[in-house]
Amino acid sequence: MSPIFPAGNVITLPGNVAPEGDNLFAARVLDNLPVAVYNCNAHGFITSYNLAAVKLWGRTPQIGRDLWCGSWKIYNPDGSPMPLDNCPMAKTLATGIAVEGEEILIERPDGSTRYVLPHPVPIYAGNKLIGATNTLIDITEHKADETKQAVLAAIIESSDDAIISKTLDGIITSWNRGAEKLFGYSEAEVIGKHISILIPHDRLQEEAVIIEKVRNSEKVDHFETIRLNSKGAEIPISLTVSPIKNKKGLIIGGSKIARDISKQKQAETDLQRYADNLEILNSVGRLISAELDIQSILQKVTDATTQLTGAAFGAFFHNLVDKKGESYMLYTLSGAPREAFEKFGMPRNTQIFHQTFSGAGIVRVDDITKDPRYGHNHPHKGMPEGHLPVVSYLAVPVTSKSGAVLGGLFFGHPQPGKFTSEHEKLISAVAAHASVALDNAKLYEEITLLNSKKDDFIGMASHELKTPVTSIQGYLQIVERSLANEDKNKLFVTKARNQVGKLAALIADLLDVSKIQTGKLPFSYSQFNAEALIAEVIEMMRNSQHSHQILLEQELNNLVINADQQRLEQVIINLVSNAIKYSPNAKEIIVRANATPTSLHVSVQDFGIGIDKSQQGRVFTRFYRVENLAAHMSGLGIGLYISHEIVNRHNGKIWLQSSPGAGTTFHFEVPINH
Ligand code: ADP
Repeated sequence: MSPIFPAGNVITLPGNVAPEGDNLFAARVLDNLPVAVYNCNAHGFITSYNLAAVKLWGRTPQIGRDLWCGSWKIYNPDGSPMPLDNCPMAKTLATGIAVEGEEILIERPDGSTRYVLPHPVPIYAGNKLIGATNTLIDITEHKADETKQAVLAAIIESSDDAIISKTLDGIITSWNRGAEKLFGYSEAEVIGKHISILIPHDRLQEEAVIIEKVRNSEKVDHFETIRLNSKGAEIPISLTVSPIKNKKGLIIGGSKIARDISKQKQAETDLQRYADNLEILNSVGRLISAELDIQSILQKVTDATTQLTGAAFGAFFHNLVDKKGESYMLYTLSGAPREAFEKFGMPRNTQIFHQTFSGAGIVRVDDITKDPRYGHNHPHKGMPEGHLPVVSYLAVPVTSKSGAVLGGLFFGHPQPGKFTSEHEKLISAVAAHASVALDNAKLYEEITLLNSKKDDFIGMASHELKTPVTSIQGYLQIVERSLANEDKNKLFVTKARNQVGKLAALIADLLDVSKIQTGKLPFSYSQFNAEALIAEVIEMMRNSQHSHQILLEQELNNLVINADQQRLEQVIINLVSNAIKYSPNAKEIIVRANATPTSLHVSVQDFGIGIDKSQQGRVFTRFYRVENLAAHMSGLGIGLYISHEIVNRHNGKIWLQSSPGAGTTFHFEVPINH
């Protein structure tokens, strides 16, 4: 195929005239033009075309047969089919007028399409229309660019993010709808203005840093900062700024995408607050569950809840009943001095305050001075002068498990609307903790009271018992002496005296316990020879029983110590008696005594039943008896308690080593110079 173009623009039908001379030159030029050109005769038949036209159509037209257009199928730009006889070339030939600016879409035989801008011009010979020449400009690429631009513009317009462009001097050059929404300025209001209208004063230096980065072709990625809207309100945003380059690659400005992160920031703050609140709740729970003193519980709860609510002052009023059965109120304050309350007496009779104690539930008022219940009560009719300036008011009842109102937590703030439903929930949670702690503290108080009554009783009973027992002992002694040695009754009297002696020792121990409890166990310190004392005590113990041999190993060299002689004797007797009592199948007890330059050390070893490791720590507790073989042996569980107290009062220490079945060694150590 060789495209043929006749010279000039006059076409002779039906065939082509071979070009010559100038015409030949013109034909060559047209043939090699990068733009598609073809001609039709007055009947619409294609008479000539150039190479570019063949390339555009994707086919070679048949001269004298193809009508109006070399393309097979043509469409309107919207994709609807365009009848061939309605194509721009056909229109020009039908009307004799050039058609301008009517885009068409052509489809090639291979299915590909091109957007084309035809420009058919009629050709006249004198007055007679003899044909038309058409120039086809391929605008496909241009159209694609246009579409891309339109898509981009649509994306920018529909984005929720603010997308702004600015020059390197910070002058705003474009402003999308997202920016309008976020910052509240219309496009017209900001184009040409400096970007600093959005920047808080104290952050102006940020812009210089951003521009510097843009100039250096760097991107600023997700920078979290604060910007101002048209009303001057601060908005937390995440900012991404990228350099804008012109076609030559020169940086001419920056594009800025700002995302509103207020919700994210709010969520972060909420989460943090939630975590803080949990932490406070936790620590309040921990603090008050370890507390058994009512006043301390009230104070700790008041302090923590005042902090939790952000109240200016908080109070905890606790209903109590005294020993005489009369009710009274204990209260603690936080954020206000006690005088602030005491000056005006208890506000218990006011309508608002009283509600909390009558089971009406939580009361939260944004402005108490505007509350209908406010100002009705005598004598003050509202808040007296000098009273804490309560405007925001929150009161939460503290209710016990039984449903009784134990008291109430009250909070005040001089500004209105300070307390929220979140505060109500938090304080209710603390109130629940507090009611358990108060119940426990009350139980503890009751137990302590009962315990001290029991101690009083033991003290009194032992005292009452001591006098008759001492007299019986005396009388028995007289009777014993008056009887002859061979008298059988003498044996019974001696036995009776021994039993009464044991009874007297028990009573003495009980009296000691009661004195220890009341802190009145008397001590009398003196200098004495420890070695002699120990030898004497052991000798006495040897004579008072025959079941065990008591070995004594002393390395004291007449050591003189300053201590309460009788009390130390009491400790040794107690340890040796226990050793005998708790080693019924053994024959031996070993008592050792030695000294360091500063202390006396005594140990008593037996080969008896021993004490399990798990119980060893408790044998010095009052009334404690090990649950083992010893359970059926007589005893009150007070000997070691008294010994422990005596050694402690000497600033010494007492301890034991034991293995069940093998025996026990008790040790004690006291300073030589107390
Ligand atoms: P008790 O009057 O019961 O002997 P103590 O206070 O002297 O009271 O001793 C407390 C408990 O310690 C005893 O009940 C006993 O279970 C245990 N205990 C004391 N000494 C010994 C020992 N040497 N061997 C084994 N158990 C002992």
